Amino acid sequence: MWSLMGSPRCSEMTRASTSRTSGDKKIVGRIYRKLFSFYGCRDWWPGDSPFEVAVGAILTQNTNWANVEKAIANLKHHRALSAKALHEMPIQDIASLIRPSGYYNVKAKRLKAFIGFLMAAYEGDMALMAGTSTERLRVDLLAINGVGQETADSILLYALNRPVFVIDAYTKRVFSRHGIMDVRAGYEECQNLFHGSMQADTAVYNEYHALIVSVGKEFCRPAPRCARCPLEKIPHDC
Ligand code: SF4
Repeated sequence: MWSLMGSPRCSEMTRASTSRTSGDKKIVGRIYRKLFSFYGCRDWWPGDSPFEVAVGAILTQNTNWANVEKAIANLKHHRALSAKALHEMPIQDIASLIRPSGYYNVKAKRLKAFIGFLMAAYEGDMALMAGTSTERLRVDLLAINGVGQETADSILLYALNRPVFVIDAYTKRVFSRHGIMDVRAGYEECQNLFHGSMQADTAVYNEYHALIVSVGKEFCRPAPRCARCPLEKIPHDC
């Protein structure tokens, strides 16, 4: 399995470089270390290529990963998991192949929009994005129909190895319950907490987001399971 998670870096991640200048920033580092020591390296995000990771980031909207895997397996089985193949394929056929991911008609349009951008700007080759700044890429990705901030940042971080922290519902839930984030805060305000608390480090951002998803799925559910959670000793509201 191909992964952008740099396993050799995992041994360094317990030394995530966090600022020590404020309580919240300290807690951001402390939570990272607690989660890392509990879960270890998460080795995210599954995908055999940056293109597959980007497709997965679009397909995973509003569904679980198991369904995305089925959709990606269908695309692979029909030799459709490439920019050229998806560019040439009728949108109805794409929708049929990605049906297991749910909202398949909407997601087929989103995939087509992403492929259209990729073909027009980078000849369908994500490797050609390497020369474009992260800021420019983020603006361009957000201009694609159906690509929101979480999807754009997932592509930047997990497919393109750029130091951009991904904020999702799990992040807001965990950090708001610990009084570090307002659950009503906007995406960029939440993201700034992480960008301002740690040095820009792709491997750490990659790992941290994966750890938050793990604790969110296992413990910090709508009805929290604080008693056995690795963050139980960190002050929280539940
Ligand atoms: S389950 Fe409880 S201790 Fe764990 S992250 Fe959520 S609020 Fe914190």
